[in-house]
Amino acid sequence: MSKILIIAEHDGQALNLSTAKCINCAQAIGGEIDVLVMGGSTDTIAAEAAALDSVNRVIAVDAAHLAAPLAANLAPEVVSVAADYSHVLGPSTTFGRDLMPRIAALLGVNQVSDIMEVISPTSFKRPIYAGNAIVDVEAPAGSIVVATVRTASWKAVDSSGSAGIEKRAASSEAASHTKFIELKAGGGERPDLQSAVKVVSGGRGVGSEENFKVIYQLADKLGAAVGASRAAVDAGYCPNDMQVGQTGKIISPDLYLAFGISGAIQHVTGIKDAGTIVAVNKDSEAPIFEIADIGLVGDLFSVISELEQQLA
Ligand SMILES: Cc1cc2nc3c(=O)[nH]c(=O)nc-3n(C[C@H](O)[C@H](O)[C@H](O)COP(=O)(O)OP(=O)(O)OC[C@H]3O[C@@H](n4cnc5c(N)ncnc54)[C@H](O)[C@@H]3O)c2cc1C
Repeated sequence: MSKILIIAEHDGQALNLSTAKCINCAQAIGGEIDVLVMGGSTDTIAAEAAALDSVNRVIAVDAAHLAAPLAANLAPEVVSVAADYSHVLGPSTTFGRDLMPRIAALLGVNQVSDIMEVISPTSFKRPIYAGNAIVDVEAPAGSIVVATVRTASWKAVDSSGSAGIEKRAASSEAASHTKFIELKAGGGERPDLQSAVKVVSGGRGVGSEENFKVIYQLADKLGAAVGASRAAVDAGYCPNDMQVGQTGKIISPDLYLAFGISGAIQHVTGIKDAGTIVAVNKDSEAPIFEIADIGLVGDLFSVISELEQQLA
């Protein structure tokens, strides 16, 4: 039987939804599922993880050097726990994409990336070429499988469980070559882009950093996260952690509103799993309309201003 260890993602306050999605993937693999929560003070987060369906046990490790999500510190701690497991899974978010390759390297295995479907405990489907082809990946039987889970492909499990929480002392020490200095995060109180239910996104069509304020305002009215195309990020309209797409974030909100975004394949690959896509573009030939559920040909500023009046 598989023994699966999920690495919990959190911001020190609350568990990220990506962890509940990893558990869904672990359910498809089948076996016993434990969650490892590492941090400075993990009581609340460990309790949230323990409530997730199908979790057998939560291992909580509190230590000052684990407080910031530094892969250089977290990876050795994971490795000290991993020997008992057949699989170590993390989300394909920025957190997981930073951490999991280090874990794989320390364990001397190749990482399986972006699991979108489980064929067997050692074979998986994953997208390549910006999601235009799907390949089957086979991990060698008999060695530990270290993998990232494509969060856009899995629904979060419910929270009706009550697993036990085991507190452990850290086995690792702070890395001497890497230290945490400060966290600069954009977005303020807005929802996290990768787990948001609604996302309002702006592209080059928004025109400037100043104009991008209309995207933030609409997002705040809707309680949505803010995303952007790479062209908008490259032009300096907004920070690059907002970039959605192949080289940005792959997201799966229920509602995605795209303003002044043409719909290049590299952008579309980041929103393929969104529930409803609404696109506003002044060019009726823009490729975004091929994938949009609702398309509006028109000036984005007029549409946003009308929407705001409706919402007022
Ligand atoms: C290797 C690689 C990786 C990439 N990764 C990404 C990625 O992760 N994410 C990403 O987004 N891109 C990525 N790109 C870039 C991608 O190819 C496009 O260049 C980019 O997505 C275009 O952004 P855009 O749609 O905002 O700009 P444009 O293509 O310039 O489109 C702007 C749109 O705004 C419309 N518009 C202008 N004014 C208005 C107005 N007033 N009202 C309404 N509509 C208006 C225009 O009609 C146009 O359709 C990548 C490219 C490469 C080569």
